[in-house]
Amino acid sequence: MAKIFFDHISTTPLDPRVLEAMMPYLTEWYGNPSSHIHEQGQAALRAVDRARGEVAALIGAKPGEVVFTSGATESNNLAVLGAAEGAGVAKRHAVVSGVEHFSVMNALIPLRNAGVEVTVVPVDRDGLVDPADVRKALRPGTAIVSVMQANAEIGTIEPVEEIGRIAREAGVTFHVDATASAGHIPLDVRALPADLVTLSAHNFYGPKGVGALYVREGAKVAPRTFGGFQEMGYRAGTENVPGIVGMGAAAGIAAKEMGAWAERLTHLGRVLWDGIAKIPLLHFTGHPDRRLPGHVSFWVEHVEGESLLLFLNVKGIMAASGSACSSNLRGHDEEDLVASPVLRAIGVPSDICTGSITFSLGKGNTEDEVRLALDALPGIVDRLREMSPTYLDYQKRTAQGG
Ligand code: PMP
Repeated sequence: MAKIFFDHISTTPLDPRVLEAMMPYLTEWYGNPSSHIHEQGQAALRAVDRARGEVAALIGAKPGEVVFTSGATESNNLAVLGAAEGAGVAKRHAVVSGVEHFSVMNALIPLRNAGVEVTVVPVDRDGLVDPADVRKALRPGTAIVSVMQANAEIGTIEPVEEIGRIAREAGVTFHVDATASAGHIPLDVRALPADLVTLSAHNFYGPKGVGALYVREGAKVAPRTFGGFQEMGYRAGTENVPGIVGMGAAAGIAAKEMGAWAERLTHLGRVLWDGIAKIPLLHFTGHPDRRLPGHVSFWVEHVEGESLLLFLNVKGIMAASGSACSSNLRGHDEEDLVASPVLRAIGVPSDICTGSITFSLGKGNTEDEVRLALDALPGIVDRLREMSPTYLDYQKRTAQGG
């Protein structure tokens, strides 16, 4: 049976070249970079410094502006909580978009508890933030604006350059969560007026358990972990040397190859989109043009997203229902059985939508795999609809002309 992985937005496979770069730091070179009085520590320190340079080069940063973390969640927490504290007691207001990841949204909970006010800027039906709404939301006491570069669930690319200019003019710290987009579409902090940028290695063919926060020179960010003086004081604790080496290697590869990946994935995404568009009562989500390469997301009337995924999985096709993390919400909040926060934010009607599907292609996928998925999909949709009581009602209503 085919094994087709169309869930690269949740994670990507490790590039074999990245594994090769990491191996010596899992075996021969096990030193601690802080213990660099000897050869082992010096080798580790050199490797971390090299990786810092590679990650910096991917986004046009200076090496000293790259802080390694354990991943996107930690980077987003550090950005939001660290910038709120770093802004000082006079600034007690934060602005975020309505489609931010939980690692931004939930970091606001302790801030709200501490009396910080939060403005959630809405998005339109395509999931786009209007920069004018961000401008309106700003106040003299705004500490931080946080808007993602691209949304994992619906693929929309946000106008972060314009939002950044607005934040910069107002002197407000601007954080961009680039977890879903870094290594896939260009991001250059020499052109993008962002003060903080979140990156995650496992989203661009690097290892899990490592990420980075770009902290622009002079940005005011208070640390969230306390201990030694690693990572310029922003992130205490012995570095994940093999992971960091892997992130550096993955960044180096992405910097060279992402243009070619994007071209191929845009083509494959278009083939997938055009094929899927033939299914009746299907609605694409996200912006039709401003979207991640190879990302196709949609929902189908009278079809439960989760069931569709299970049927696809039986055929060896692996995709996601919205954000991989949002499925963890189930059982906690009845409403989330109906629609994810992102689907709600873009105004998908929860009475006829019971879950969306995200196909996210990666550099290893082929056109044959896309065709196989397109062959499988209509039959699965038909079978699920036949089992759907709401579809039977719909058919009766349309037969009666109502
Ligand atoms: N930000 C965005 C935009 C995401 O899609 C995700 C989930 N992949 C995260 C942050 C959190 O990533 P992780 O679970 O790898 O820390």
